[in-house]
Amino acid sequence: MMSPRLFHQEQSMIDQSTLNTSPQPTITIEDDRTGMSVATLKRAFLDNLFYLQGIDRSQATLYDYYVALAYTIRDRLLHRFIKTVATYKQEKVKVVCYLSAEFLMGRHLGNNLINLGLYDKIDQVMKEFDLDLNEIIEQEPDPGLGNGGLGRLAACFLDSLASLEVPAIGYGIRYEFGIFHQRIQDGWQVEVPDNWLRFGNPWEIPRADESVEVKLGGHTEIIHNEKNQPKVVWIPERTILAIPYDTPVPGYQTNTVNPLRLWKAEASEEFNFEAFNSGLYDRAVAEKMDAETISKVLYPNDNTPAGRELRLAQQYFFVSASLQDLIRIHLRTHPNLDTFYELTAIQLNDTHPAVAIAELMRLFVDRYDYDWDKAWDITQKTFAYTNHTLMPEALERWSVDLFAKLLPRHLEIIYEINHRFLTGLQTWFPNDEALVESLSLIEENHGKKIRMANLACVGSHAINGVAALHTELLKKDTLRDFAKLWPQKFFNKTNGVTPRRWILLSNPELSALVTEKIGDGWLKNLDEMRQIEKFVDDPEFCRRWREIKQNNKRNLAAYLLKYRNVQIDVNSLFDVQVKRIHEYKRQHLAALEIIHLYNRIKQNPHAEIVPRTFIFGGKAAPGYFMAKLIIKLINAVGEVVNNDPDVRGRLKVVFVSNFNVSLGQRIYPAADLSEQISTAGKEASGTGNMKFAMNGALTIGTLDGANIEIREEAGPENFFLFGLTAEQVYAMKENGYHPHTYYDNNFDLKAVIDRIAHGYFSPGNPNLFHPIVESLLHHDPYMLLADYQAYVGCQDEVSKAYADQDRWTKMSILNSARMGKFSSDRTIREYCKEIWDVPPVKISLDEYHPEYADL
Ligand SMILES: *Cc1c(COP(=O)(O)O)cnc(C)c1O
Repeated sequence: MMSPRLFHQEQSMIDQSTLNTSPQPTITIEDDRTGMSVATLKRAFLDNLFYLQGIDRSQATLYDYYVALAYTIRDRLLHRFIKTVATYKQEKVKVVCYLSAEFLMGRHLGNNLINLGLYDKIDQVMKEFDLDLNEIIEQEPDPGLGNGGLGRLAACFLDSLASLEVPAIGYGIRYEFGIFHQRIQDGWQVEVPDNWLRFGNPWEIPRADESVEVKLGGHTEIIHNEKNQPKVVWIPERTILAIPYDTPVPGYQTNTVNPLRLWKAEASEEFNFEAFNSGLYDRAVAEKMDAETISKVLYPNDNTPAGRELRLAQQYFFVSASLQDLIRIHLRTHPNLDTFYELTAIQLNDTHPAVAIAELMRLFVDRYDYDWDKAWDITQKTFAYTNHTLMPEALERWSVDLFAKLLPRHLEIIYEINHRFLTGLQTWFPNDEALVESLSLIEENHGKKIRMANLACVGSHAINGVAALHTELLKKDTLRDFAKLWPQKFFNKTNGVTPRRWILLSNPELSALVTEKIGDGWLKNLDEMRQIEKFVDDPEFCRRWREIKQNNKRNLAAYLLKYRNVQIDVNSLFDVQVKRIHEYKRQHLAALEIIHLYNRIKQNPHAEIVPRTFIFGGKAAPGYFMAKLIIKLINAVGEVVNNDPDVRGRLKVVFVSNFNVSLGQRIYPAADLSEQISTAGKEASGTGNMKFAMNGALTIGTLDGANIEIREEAGPENFFLFGLTAEQVYAMKENGYHPHTYYDNNFDLKAVIDRIAHGYFSPGNPNLFHPIVESLLHHDPYMLLADYQAYVGCQDEVSKAYADQDRWTKMSILNSARMGKFSSDRTIREYCKEIWDVPPVKISLDEYHPEYADL
């Protein structure tokens, strides 16, 4: 055990000349306790270890070092954070409010080091303490407050907003349990709760004084006000306290640090005093726990609505808290809310926060006494809605009964919005019953339901899809009547990802090579990556490019060996499909390809096969039977293929459990081939496809989502395209699709399906995979059989290309070079200009620090 005296001795090893030992006349950033010099950083790190973690170096674990370092970095964000928020307030700037039920942020430490420009310095500091920065970074629990692409998009957008110096707040829920931790047992997915806050969270700051009340349940009454006018009042049944927790989100090389404000639910203070005082202590405590369930757990559904009361309560909870917060902020500097929309642009990330439209109307009309038309005008000017899916079954619809129980006043408001909307329609389109039926906010058949997408469309001034094809199909199909009514409301905003996390942090060697050749401007303007095209014929550059990919593959292999106990051949082609497991994403189509190659080997053990490692990863929604069975199928196929001596190691199947952002950072840079094989017309955009291509993987993909634009940018000769187009998919369904004929007429396909159907991969349980076989042969809603032959043929082209390493390397370089469009900076610039009308605001740090003013 090291004594405090020894601790000070250790400190005394730090260069004394840089320590602040005598009173200073003025304090500058360099010599205050949050300075950026190596000496100050070292001292702050040791201070935090001792005074915050309460431990010294002789006892500290890697986790203690992580916490000490996290606080050291958070301290360095706080000047910028406080100055940023103060600037927004003083200058009365317009702010983007990104409302999202999910933020899949990934670990903060590494990213914050990069954005503050401290990565190399801290790496050095850790080395001087005999510590490995990478090991410390690994200690942070991955905050999994999202399911997949939608939540990760929100996180990339926050990085780009701060990097482009755009005033912005992210609003969401501080789930106590994020997306479950996935284990694989006997080939099956097992869900384990993700208690990510167990050891605290150094990145968040609770702001108890900015808590707001959110009400639920009860009924409405009509009263008469002083002018004897009738007025509706809501008499709620329950009050929940919403406590904001702010996480600072820094931009890359900017002073902007925007807040991510996540709400935690707690029992309100005056809550059930009666029960408490009458001795019903247990009931008072039970009801307190009840209140806290609202922010307890993230619903693990991706692309399928939950329809549960608690989920609606969650949505309303964070929306109501966020709008009250925004109104309070507005009224700090303005006499009334007339100008609300001039200072607040609210983006709805899918329909999860769409109840905000009814809530803002309620606040304006009931609480601030606005007349309906004025309130509606402001509401429409405030909101914009991003749609994320074309699949009708994935659109949120809340039962009217549930709504009436939880939000009786909001139900009335939605009926009123609908009544006025449909009345207006009937004057323009008299007798068009079908139009009224399709646009109505209420679905009348099989139990009344509220269509949240319709509410979002009616209450917003802008509606956008997330890739060019997606937006086209929205206008033609899913939202066609809205597009006919209001064509000017529709925009396309093709998704993007942040190159800071997804290239610089994930692929440091590639980043260093690019920067050596073209400078580091590409990190702020990814279009500059085009400049590396001029090196595609430079053999030395190509050799280094290939070597870096090889190193990334080795790093992933070492990780899988160390933490998952699987060995993979780094000289094989890494063929990767990581994303949520969903039938429309067709992980089982890739499984058919593996079985096809296996059959080829079994027929001719000497067949020429380019060695491949098939790497899968992704979580299935716990209630999604087919998705879980697909995971089992992949593992079962792996079990056979990996252990068959005839294969001689040429094929290997690995299912990497618990795919999340941190694993993604290891996997995307190590991939040779990116599998983007959804049924055309089903994947709205995809963002994984962008991360792969930026890191030099080639894509095998369908003409779906952003794949189309990736292929356009990379050049068709650098993309492995196969499969039906969205139009062909629609036409085939229209004309009657008979999957069985593909099976009957394709001997190879038949052999593949029969291997599954006859129980080859499920010895002792031949019927195990029958639900998959039955679905494929008799319905095949995602048309795997129609695309099978094209896919297998295209995979042969991939193998041929990979065998020619020079050709492959050139294609890889060109993919990376041409992905500038898919930086989320480009996406955010478009939203700012065309939807939000929000300009950037510079944050200057060159004045005194207010907290030192009276020293
Ligand atoms: C990027 C990302 C996704 C989205 O992947 P898609 O292939 O676009 O579905 C999902 N999960 C994580 C952890 C990601 O980083």
